[in-house]
Amino acid sequence: MSIAFLFGRDLRLQDNEALSYAASLSKPLLPLFIVPSEFDSLSPIRQHSLVESLKALDASLPGGLEVMHSKLADSIYSLSGIEKIVATRAYDTKGMLWQADLAEACFSKGIALELKGSNYAVAPGTIVKDEGSALKVYTPFFKRWMLHGWDKPFQLDVTAVSWTKAKSSQMPLPSAPSPITVRAGEAFALRTFRRFQKRALSDYSENRNRTDLPGTSHLSHALAHGEIHPRTLLSELGGGEGAEVFRKEIAWREFYADVLYRNPHTLDDYYEARFAGMRYADPVTDADKLEAWKAGRTGYPIVDAAMRQLNQTGWMHNRSRMIVASFLVKDLHFEWQVGARYFEERLTDFDPASNSHGWQWTAGCGTDASPYYRVFNPVLQGIKFDPKGEYVRKFVPELQHIDGAKVHEPWELIDGYSNGYPERIVDHSQERDESLMRLQELKK
Ligand code: FAD
Repeated sequence: MSIAFLFGRDLRLQDNEALSYAASLSKPLLPLFIVPSEFDSLSPIRQHSLVESLKALDASLPGGLEVMHSKLADSIYSLSGIEKIVATRAYDTKGMLWQADLAEACFSKGIALELKGSNYAVAPGTIVKDEGSALKVYTPFFKRWMLHGWDKPFQLDVTAVSWTKAKSSQMPLPSAPSPITVRAGEAFALRTFRRFQKRALSDYSENRNRTDLPGTSHLSHALAHGEIHPRTLLSELGGGEGAEVFRKEIAWREFYADVLYRNPHTLDDYYEARFAGMRYADPVTDADKLEAWKAGRTGYPIVDAAMRQLNQTGWMHNRSRMIVASFLVKDLHFEWQVGARYFEERLTDFDPASNSHGWQWTAGCGTDASPYYRVFNPVLQGIKFDPKGEYVRKFVPELQHIDGAKVHEPWELIDGYSNGYPERIVDHSQERDESLMRLQELKK
């Protein structure tokens, strides 16, 4: 009898606690992946990013990866000669439900299931106040998270494992060609980290907010697919201001995972329930505005550059995510879930906790002090975080004829619209007032 290791959002061999545990059982080990049912609804880039991760993992396994593309229960029933399945424990809403179904299928088939480890340095649900309750604000969470600390990375001697050869590999096929080449896999993730350490970590605290600079790590895809574990990153960060700020960003990921684990409904419901009662735009009646936002044709250059970055590359800068989220919720008045769903479809680094709570933070209905009345001004944000206009010119060709920061206000120029750039679909200052009025209504 063999053991199966079921990969999920942990597509790597090193520093994988659950995999090291499965290997320590000294039985033949079948590496297995079951393609998630939502695969077909994802954008081609997102589909490609998963397939590239799977291909890299498949190539790094001596006998290859067994990929199954049928329903969860059918996949489990079709296994033969397996006495136990080991997997990394999920802490997000859908992941936990999926693992409950997995447990049921394993039980019916007479297979044992063991869930170990997590995709976090500190497993969600671990950090608590002295009296045992959850921390609802990031900074105190961060302080306790630092005090708690984490394990050293788990090493695995891949050659010492008796891997079972995969019988069939039903690698999923993306629905359309990807507009870009997606690079993925454990080795690529490690190279990305090394490059970041060498080139950008020391200036990270200064440059991380600049949309026009390669100032961040671009490790979010690798973290979301589990091609690298945060423990590996934390163990090699070292000191200095850049490392300190980077550690804090990793902690935001851990904080949101903790919040979602303790409040599973906030995956697609309000953390601050009263915001559900606000007046919002209707995605059907107001479809034109929503489509303009999605396509990057709102007439606000920084918003449009950011949305086109997402559509063209499957990734968006963190500052840009905040700008477009604020614009969708506070200038166009859509509920945050409308935008979060679009991000889910497109982001190759989609992470349920960071996405839902990144949106809710910006929309003012999430954790921490991000008051609803703080409305981002898309022009000032553009001038501040893309001061030479390079980010906008890169993604918005209709504005390439405008030099410097003037690109953020084409309406001020005689030839601003000469290359077909769309006019503003709303007036920011009016919509800001409208937003604040809706907030007042909520308070009544
Ligand atoms: P770096 O600046 O290099 O940061 C390193 C890592 O720290 C990131 O890879 C990420 O894992 C973590 N991190 C950094 N900032 C944040 C943050 N604000 N919240 C949580 N974790 C953070 N991140 C995702 O990984 N997946 C998502 O689906 C996602 N959706 C978001 C939606 C909105 C509306 C907002 C405002 C933020 C969202 N983020 C999400 C967080 C953040 O934008 C990305 O993690 C970051 O832009 C990824 O780029 P990077 O790896 O170069 O980041």
